Amino acid sequence: MVLDAPRTALRAAELDPPRPEVGEVLLEVAACGVCRTDLHIVDGELDRPHLPLVPGHQIVARVVEGGERFAPGDRVGVPWLGWTCGECRYCRSGRENLCDRARFTGYDRDGGYAQLAVADERYCFPLPDGYPDIQAAPLLCAGLIGYRTLKLAGDAERIGIYGFGGAAHIVCQVAVHQGRRVFAFTRASDQAGQAFALELGAEWAGDALGPPPEELDAALVFAPAGELVPAALKAVAKGGSVVCGGIHMSDIPALPYELLWGERVLRSVANLTRADGTEFLELAPRVPVKTQVETHPLERAGVALDRLRSGAIRGAAVLVL
Ligand SMILES: [Zn+2]
Ligand SMILES: [Zn+2]
Repeated sequence: MVLDAPRTALRAAELDPPRPEVGEVLLEVAACGVCRTDLHIVDGELDRPHLPLVPGHQIVARVVEGGERFAPGDRVGVPWLGWTCGECRYCRSGRENLCDRARFTGYDRDGGYAQLAVADERYCFPLPDGYPDIQAAPLLCAGLIGYRTLKLAGDAERIGIYGFGGAAHIVCQVAVHQGRRVFAFTRASDQAGQAFALELGAEWAGDALGPPPEELDAALVFAPAGELVPAALKAVAKGGSVVCGGIHMSDIPALPYELLWGERVLRSVANLTRADGTEFLELAPRVPVKTQVETHPLERAGVALDRLRSGAIRGAAVLVL
């Protein structure tokens, strides 16, 4: 499925098979998760994709050939981080997620909305056994970047999660496993989302713009709505953090300094490091994280994106090949 230009529908196309270069693997895609970032790319909110583009960066695939790290038939996962330079000040200080020259899967290079894909083998992950392909796909971005977002909240006990989609439904399970208390914030009218959060171990679910039932130690904002930032700052206790987990967000309204005062911290999360991935994929089966997915055949990628845009998806959407 190909994006020719932002704000146009994806097009089913027959492309030449991609060829792996040195250090790359050719992959037969089994499943590819649909991420809100894909939506930001298709909708033109992330504005420098290589075009025409095959989107998709939560790829579960089998190795066909190429590289040295894996054998043909091995199952691997391909995340958003597709390549880094290894030389810049970020790469040299354990922060390859911030690499100046990073290349991202399904953005700078073709991704997994396809039968075949290529990836740099150094950025692929072996996947834990016990997760069928479609259940494993959302671990690769919703899970990984959600986990990094939670880590940046430190040892906060009372965690507010704003927006209860793909990342939140995974992070909620991890946070509860770690003994934290989870409070889920959704649109006031989203009764289904609130019920879903309670099923996954949140102890409270309610209106994101209303008052929290008690002070929070950290808030994780996954919904791309800037107006949630002042609401989340208002909900956290002194010294608490608000961590924004998305790659794009609407403008944050002006806010009184008083909301930040008291050593409250506001920060974003950018991308992932390979260390995040290794750590999270080791942790997920021990929780165990159970992903809720709805599946769509590849050619219905546009339908999956529409459902994500309208908030209709419970958990995560996955394209199956
Ligand atoms: Zn770099
Ligand atoms: Zn993603």
